[in-house]
Amino acid sequence: MGQRTKWGNCSSRRNLSFNWRLILTPDFVLRYLVTHEVVHLAIPDHSAKFWLTVQSLCPETEKAKQWLSRHHAQITMDLGSVFAPECSMENEGRF
Ligand SMILES: [Zn+2]
Repeated sequence: MGQRTKWGNCSSRRNLSFNWRLILTPDFVLRYLVTHEVVHLAIPDHSAKFWLTVQSLCPETEKAKQWLSRHHAQITMDLGSVFAPECSMENEGRF
C-alpha cells in the first residue's frame, strides 16, 4: 500500500467509475466524489479552476477531503479480518 487510493475515475471515453468501498462512506463524501468525477468531464486536470468548480458545486468538499484522510485506514483495511469466521473447525486448514 502507501499508494493513494483511487476513489473514482473518469476515463478518456468519459465513463465514470467508483471504488466499491465508497458504500462505507457518508453521503456528503459520496456527493463530493461524484461531483469531483463529473467536473472532470469538463476539466480533466486538478487546476485551480477545477477545484473552484468542485467547491462551488459541492460546498462540503473540504469536509469530505478531511473525512477521507481521517478514515482512509478504516475503509481501506483488509475486510477479510473483519468478516473472517471466529474459529470454525470445518474451515480449518482450508485458507
Ligand atoms: Zn481528480
